[in-house]
Amino acid sequence: MREKRKVAVGRVIIGGDAKVSVQSMTNTATADFDSTLSQIRELERVGCDIIRLAVCNNDDLASCRKLVKEAKAPLVADIQFDWKLAAACSELGFKKVRFNPGNIGSNENVRKLTEVCKANGTPIRIGVNGGSLQKDIELKYGRTAEGLCESALCHAALLEKFGFYDIVLSVKSSNVKTCTQAYRLLNEKCDYPLHLGITESGAKLAGIVKSSIGIGSLLLDGIGNTIRVSLTGNPVQEAEVANKILGALGLKKNCEIISCPTCSRCKVNLSAIYDEVEAMLENVALPLKVAVMGCVVNGPGEAAEADFGVAGGEGKSVIFSRGKILKTVSNENIVAELKKLLDEHISENS
Ligand code: SF4
Repeated sequence: MREKRKVAVGRVIIGGDAKVSVQSMTNTATADFDSTLSQIRELERVGCDIIRLAVCNNDDLASCRKLVKEAKAPLVADIQFDWKLAAACSELGFKKVRFNPGNIGSNENVRKLTEVCKANGTPIRIGVNGGSLQKDIELKYGRTAEGLCESALCHAALLEKFGFYDIVLSVKSSNVKTCTQAYRLLNEKCDYPLHLGITESGAKLAGIVKSSIGIGSLLLDGIGNTIRVSLTGNPVQEAEVANKILGALGLKKNCEIISCPTCSRCKVNLSAIYDEVEAMLENVALPLKVAVMGCVVNGPGEAAEADFGVAGGEGKSVIFSRGKILKTVSNENIVAELKKLLDEHISENS
């Protein structure tokens, strides 16, 4: 598999041998500086590496003038039709702009924009969506994986015509199969880094499942350099889910909790214990595996790969490490005793 080009989005590198980065997009009114900055801060707090904002008019632009200075994460401007707005965002200090060359009028407009982006070192993401393919491509291919891929390559060719190669591509669709096929095709056909996402994937559990399957299956095959989980609602959840996907695939070192589904052998309230352990580990950035298991009979053995774990029992539970029982504790003290051990381990390894 060809290594992808490196594209620098401020301090975050997309492509090459860089780690897969997490993106999300604010959904406050961009012109509302306070609300948008507060959402940017929340996203930064949950590990969002790159943050995108829709920029639709001069009011948005005025707010962005301050936001690009305040934000710690690099900001990306999402532009629909106005190349001058995209150019202004590049001048303002946005670290990337996202638009479709087909949406911003003549090739001459595209040329002028590439000149501005080149001068400022602003990369461009060409974001093709299944629902908005250009007419000729849709007529020829329909809303298929081939159509998505062809559209992205046509747009990229237009930028290349003007000597612009600082490009990231995405080919999103709400159909997981079409979307993943499009990314696989595109991955074969170009060396531009790929921004993965299943668009309009829905909300809550349904959206999380769709995104995890789509993004996860591509990442497992080494495809994709940056990801955005699209979920209706607060974007903070998008970044949290994206980080969980990376953690589950071993692409991000993070704290992982493994827990059993419970069965009739379980004599403790395991989901309550899970919640407490999860809260305890929320801000721990160490690679650590913690097990929350329902019974002493199977727990320590089943979770022998865990650095630390608890296994519930009748009145008494055990705390174990790598399959070895360290101590027996009363059920009321399970979480407190585990916390003591984890705190010690964390302070030794931080
Ligand atoms: S670890 Fe114990 S309680 Fe949990 S599912 Fe297995 S047998 Fe049941």
